Amino acid sequence: MFNFKSNLESENKNNTMKRKTFLIRSFSTLAGMLAVPAPNLLAHNPSQGQKNKPLVISTWPHGMEANIAAWEVLMQNGRALDAVEKGVRVTELDPDVTSVGVGSNPDRDGNITLDASIMDEHGNCGAVAFLQHIKNPISVAREVMEKTPHVMLAGEGALQFALANGFKKEDLHTDLSRQHWEEWKKSHEYEPIGLNNHDTISMLAIDSKGDISGACTTGGLAFKYHGRVGDSPIIGAGLYVDNEIGGAGGTGVGEVVMKTLGSFLIVELMRNGLSPYEACREAVMRAMKKIPGAEDLPIYYIAVNKQGEFGAYGTNRKFEYAVYTENKGNTLYRSDGVLH
Ligand code: ASP
Repeated sequence: MFNFKSNLESENKNNTMKRKTFLIRSFSTLAGMLAVPAPNLLAHNPSQGQKNKPLVISTWPHGMEANIAAWEVLMQNGRALDAVEKGVRVTELDPDVTSVGVGSNPDRDGNITLDASIMDEHGNCGAVAFLQHIKNPISVAREVMEKTPHVMLAGEGALQFALANGFKKEDLHTDLSRQHWEEWKKSHEYEPIGLNNHDTISMLAIDSKGDISGACTTGGLAFKYHGRVGDSPIIGAGLYVDNEIGGAGGTGVGEVVMKTLGSFLIVELMRNGLSPYEACREAVMRAMKKIPGAEDLPIYYIAVNKQGEFGAYGTNRKFEYAVYTENKGNTLYRSDGVLH
């Protein structure tokens, strides 16, 4: 069985991003006073009963900067679809984020291959998989949604489509991504399995009309097999939106998310009355029950419902997510998760 190893590098990256972002509200002092871990206090059903509209939620500390761009769109009464596209483009273009877009860690052969998906309030969706050389795969996914009769384009076909639609072919490697690959080559003997990179950005937004859209974009697992595609471009796995009910997005080991169709499951659980938090928790529990070894893997979800409640849950409590609301501004939360 594959042995996914958890990743300190990614946690270090999170810490760096934490320093970079602002408006982060730390509850550690309060937690210290109460002698219980901060994540539990902060993240257990954090928005229960609230009606947040507009709202942006996204994965990981880099979601803080992405949220700001998305929020600008929502503040001008823009559409949630435009907000999520504009938001995650910020992360795709950030060369310091080695898990999304430009400067992503490459596959084991040194190629940067990107996956992305987008879904709007009408149930339209678009995706690209195994796309190389394009800085903003989310915008290509949107073009697939809006200009073709298809949902997904992959590989060379996706690249040709992007070039035909005005995107530029570029080298996405950075000194940092090259350095990571060189280091990995020294220590891993071309062994592709390892979770060195699990910081996909999934983003969900509710606009002032109450419409919901979502976006998900990633460089996928670092040093993966050439050709590997994860959950992020798979509608229902890494992302799902049903405008009547809500939306969900994932990050972590895509293989588990794909096997359990996590985001679709979460939306269906919300349809059946669960809160976003409860639905994310149930999806994680389902994965742990069905997939051997899932409890040791990083698997995390975010969700919103039509009422503007949000929630998140993971296999552990190392996951942070960013939420922008009128009440609280742009806030970084630590997700609740299974204890271990
Ligand atoms: N879910 C992504 C994948 O498996 C990894 C991540 O979250 O960064 O491709």
